[in-house]
Amino acid sequence: MNYIFPETKFVRENNKDTQIDHVTSEIYEFMYSKPNTDEEKEEAMDLYHSIETLFRIWERQGVDMDAVRQKVFEKNRARGYYTTCEICEGKGWFFGQKCIVCDGIGVLKDGKVEDD
Ligand SMILES: [Zn+2]
Repeated sequence: MNYIFPETKFVRENNKDTQIDHVTSEIYEFMYSKPNTDEEKEEAMDLYHSIETLFRIWERQGVDMDAVRQKVFEKNRARGYYTTCEICEGKGWFFGQKCIVCDGIGVLKDGKVEDD
């Protein structure tokens, strides 16, 4: 799996159940943060971080989280949830700002590339 944070000590200290309790506490902290503030965004990121730790605990137990990720990706692709790239006619999708297939930076609008 690709993670955006370093591994926390909780990967070795917590088990799946204690980490799920932590994820739950982070959900509450996010829910009760002040809307439209830095705090709201930071609490959302804390939640994300806590979920990464849960994924790492599962990986230590031998779960193939890349396979889980792939399954969820295929399911949501079939549902049409992903932004598809108009430049390469729907062959690619976006991680960050660029299409993974054609390296395009946006979708075609009136024949022009929109770079937002
Ligand atoms: Zn593309």
